Amino acid sequence: MTITKLQISVRELDKAKLKQPPAAGQKLLFGKEFSDRMFILKYTPDKGWHDAEIRQYENLSLSPAALVLHYAPEVFEGLKAYRQPDGGVAMFRPLDNFRRMNVSAERVCLPALDIDFALSALTELVRLEQNWVSSDAGASLYIRPTLIGIDPYVGLKAPEEALFYIILSPVGAYYAQGFEPVSIMVEDKYVRAVRGGLGAAKTGANYAASILAGQLAKKKGFDQVLWLDGIEQRYVEEVGSMNIFFVYGEKIVTSALNGSILPGITRDSVLKLSKHWGLEVAEDKLDIDQVIADIASGKITEIFGSGTAAVVSPVGALYHEGREYAVGGAKTKVGALTQKLYDNLTGIQYGKIPDPFGWLVRVL
Ligand SMILES: *Cc1c(COP(=O)(O)O)cnc(C)c1O
Repeated sequence: MTITKLQISVRELDKAKLKQPPAAGQKLLFGKEFSDRMFILKYTPDKGWHDAEIRQYENLSLSPAALVLHYAPEVFEGLKAYRQPDGGVAMFRPLDNFRRMNVSAERVCLPALDIDFALSALTELVRLEQNWVSSDAGASLYIRPTLIGIDPYVGLKAPEEALFYIILSPVGAYYAQGFEPVSIMVEDKYVRAVRGGLGAAKTGANYAASILAGQLAKKKGFDQVLWLDGIEQRYVEEVGSMNIFFVYGEKIVTSALNGSILPGITRDSVLKLSKHWGLEVAEDKLDIDQVIADIASGKITEIFGSGTAAVVSPVGALYHEGREYAVGGAKTKVGALTQKLYDNLTGIQYGKIPDPFGWLVRVL
């Protein structure tokens, strides 16, 4: 990866198209509204990365033959910026997102970014858009870096021309209705990823593979599916688009990264924080029959998912082979450790408690 030393040109905005940043108390739907500006960067083999711009948020112009529209060379990231008690703004572990983006990009033959340059571009963008970071409790600015292969060619090949862009979306509290446990269906028909496939890459193709199962589960009244491995359909992988944790009293267990699981940054943060507290943590191959038996016997006291959007999401019940298994005795109960992890992770993100790991990166 070469060092990118590019001037970022900041374009004038069309005043007539300016939008209203979120007002205090305004209801915000996830992912539907975007700020005034976006960052955009082009790649071609001869020029490398070039034309770095912060400009008006607007539609892209792509050839209908663009590779991404046919063969899906696309990777993305998701992270957030949070309003701090002193009025400043900080992002949570952004370099880890860009590092992961490069790992994802390599898997689908997209060019690597200079992560330091990507971070400086993101920082400048969020600084310019600081009014879009709401001060409401639980609100944040969701950041979506995206990288696509755009060669105008309907033959299959590795992308050579690429576009990297970052868009920003103001989001309200994820738990506006309260911190309520979700109900999960163990998916025994469809799989999300297989050994040797794309599971460890954050790419839209994995989501295309997962939408139908999620939709069918919702029709049956479940919030999400729990994915099993793609070979034996026996080992626990993830839940919806989150990583999954099982609490055994003072021990906390998650599925080991096996190449088909997405290595979540929240997952890593949960592991680090739990270790820091002196809890026993383990990354294992988790057999669904054992998990079900351990819920039924009460050995598993809590289950939760982890991801940037929800931070942690308590799981109240698993539905498997026609039966429902309530976690920790009652499917409406939020476990004490789940609550403590949520409070501490969000406490760090909003700058309300110390950040012993140096996870926050100040924007201003
Ligand atoms: C993004 C994502 C996660 C969570 O990752 P975080 O970095 O914690 O947000 C988990 N699983 C899948 C499939 C994902 O795409």
